Amino acid sequence: MRLILLGPPGAGKGTQAQRLVQRYGLVQLSTGEMLRAAAAAGTPVGLQARDIMASGSLVPDDIVIGIISDRLDQPDARKGFILDGFPRTVPQAQALDALLKKKHIKLDAVVELRVNESALLARVESRVAEMLARGEEVRIDDTPEVLSKRLASYRALTEPLIHYYSERRKLLTVDGMMTIEHVTREINRILTAIGAVPARPQAKTGQKAGSASSRKAIRNAAGTGPRRAKTAVKPAAKARKPVSRTAKKSARKSVSGSRAKGAGVAKKTAKKVTKKRAKT
Ligand code: AMP
Repeated sequence: MRLILLGPPGAGKGTQAQRLVQRYGLVQLSTGEMLRAAAAAGTPVGLQARDIMASGSLVPDDIVIGIISDRLDQPDARKGFILDGFPRTVPQAQALDALLKKKHIKLDAVVELRVNESALLARVESRVAEMLARGEEVRIDDTPEVLSKRLASYRALTEPLIHYYSERRKLLTVDGMMTIEHVTREINRILTAIGAVPARPQAKTGQKAGSASSRKAIRNAAGTGPRRAKTAVKPAAKARKPVSRTAKKSARKSVSGSRAKGAGVAKKTAKKVTKKRAKT
């Protein structure tokens, strides 16, 4: 599975990436972490990046693209990865598309963690407090002043990626204001629904994450291709009505928090399914 986690500083990308690493055995490719390691090691790239990072600005695209390109070639990235903090600009996203194409790697989805900006300062403050409590070194860019600059840069340069990936039908949006546990569950649910990870055994009744209809609705939202969806929704005649209702429900569920485009497709799909069922 190959994923991008998108969200402003403090959205919980690192925390969720760690959980995905543990659950699916992926590698987390965090450009921020790599740059901090390079700075600590005093490499030329690290030294160049250190002051930029401390000021809350973005490191030049060619540096981070080079780092990611090298990292994707490492054997551990072959079984799947989560990009955390990259891409951060549209040119970086375009460069990533080209890199992935060249390396014959397919991106499964971009998971956007959407959070209220007002909560971010408090989150970063609590991250700092936790790091201090653990006796860890605090990031030099985790101060209120630098955070506001990082947020401004997110708004201006990174937020356009939401549109970029939504247009390419890759975007899945999750409400990042829920508890860590809920966010994790929701991410797992949508990844199962698009078929990026295998479904776990389900309870016998009720709405099932990863059910055929749910998979269809969310796969359409992500635009990850109709092949599986086509074969997935072929219920027996007597099961038709409930399935279309479920499709509607799951479309609504997948849409909650989804950006307009993919969400619209999911809704339309649910409607189409319902109409088709009504006719037959
Ligand atoms: P992060 O750990 O993702 O919050 O990143 C910390 C800092 O590293 C950012 O504020 C940037 O200065 C730099 N950085 C990390 N990733 C990128 C990237 N993809 N493009 C440019 N700068 C980056």
